[in-house]
Amino acid sequence: MSKDTRPMGIYIHIPFCSKKCDYCDFVSYSMDTKAQQLYLEALFTEIDMLKNKFMDRTFDTIFIGGGTPSIVYEGFIASLSRKLYSSFHFADKIEFSIEVNPSSFTKEKFFEYVEAGVNRISVGIQCLDQKLLANHGRFQSIENVRETFNILRESEFPNVNGDVMIGLPGQNKRSVVQTIKFLLKNKVKHVSTYALQIERHTMLYDKLRRGKIKRMKDKDVLTLYEIIYKMLSKAGFKRYEVSNYAKPGFECEHNKKYWDDTSYLGLGVSAHSYIDGYRYYNTKRLDTYIDAMNENKSAVYRKEYVSDAEHREERIMLSLRTAKGLNLEQFKQDFKEDLLRSRAEQIKKLTELKMVEVVDGYLRITEPNFYVSNQIILELI
Ligand code: SF4
Repeated sequence: MSKDTRPMGIYIHIPFCSKKCDYCDFVSYSMDTKAQQLYLEALFTEIDMLKNKFMDRTFDTIFIGGGTPSIVYEGFIASLSRKLYSSFHFADKIEFSIEVNPSSFTKEKFFEYVEAGVNRISVGIQCLDQKLLANHGRFQSIENVRETFNILRESEFPNVNGDVMIGLPGQNKRSVVQTIKFLLKNKVKHVSTYALQIERHTMLYDKLRRGKIKRMKDKDVLTLYEIIYKMLSKAGFKRYEVSNYAKPGFECEHNKKYWDDTSYLGLGVSAHSYIDGYRYYNTKRLDTYIDAMNENKSAVYRKEYVSDAEHREERIMLSLRTAKGLNLEQFKQDFKEDLLRSRAEQIKKLTELKMVEVVDGYLRITEPNFYVSNQIILELI
């Protein structure tokens, strides 16, 4: 792949949480302010080491994710933002997102974020069933959730996302409906849904193995997806990616870069980058990351070239997860393959079944079939 000239995104990982949720397999640690300061210094070093390399690039999205970015001490995000702005070149208009957890979000932090340039806040609400969350090791009070949305609503903050998790063992329709109703009442502009994956090395996996919990059946997860789809569609949201819904004009520009094959730079422990056809993986260990930064060494422990075959598969897979679909002309230019010919038989069959369609040069999965997108994609690869 030649040099990607489109504006890039920056992802920064904040690896701190008050406590590990039972289902979590992200890199996160419970740490005090001193450790957070050391981490911020390490991030500054990483930025200093990389800034010259990206002098000729423009960035138009920043995404601070975690972990729990809202858990870090007041002033952390503002310092980080100043460092980013003074080190990289940004477009005039950027999307600047931060993930917050209601249990650590405060009015003071909110004002700090706005001052720092944050214009999109993603709230990890997951589910309004407090007991269910506590059963999964996530302690989040309904009061904290209400308070978070009061702050955002009263200040008329324009761009709020709610993260909703489905498929938690024991989760029922009522709690999902209640969660979506709450988000709608609070006028969020974006909803991301996540189906629970029970990953190895998590507490939840251990509970499953010991027979303490049962995995939710696929058909029940599907029912919850359908409920969400209906409620959000009725409220004027458009599903623009399998798991993401937005009001017109509020799609997440940063996440679109992942699906659009656009380059992005990842900073911090366990972050990864995708730049001009190469993937870079930062170390997953916090101590290793900080030591590397103290010695002015790269945090990258693996670099890999994405082969043409992998790149082609990823393009099909990621594009077909979006409502816009796969740009057939671009695909032809990039991979010297006319998919309408090379996969003519499959496309004909899927079109007759009304599972895919070609509209304005894009091949896309039809709306009701997003739920079976994986099977469709496998046929087309
Ligand atoms: S808040 Fe998120 S990152 Fe932190 S432990 Fe829970 S799931 Fe993991």
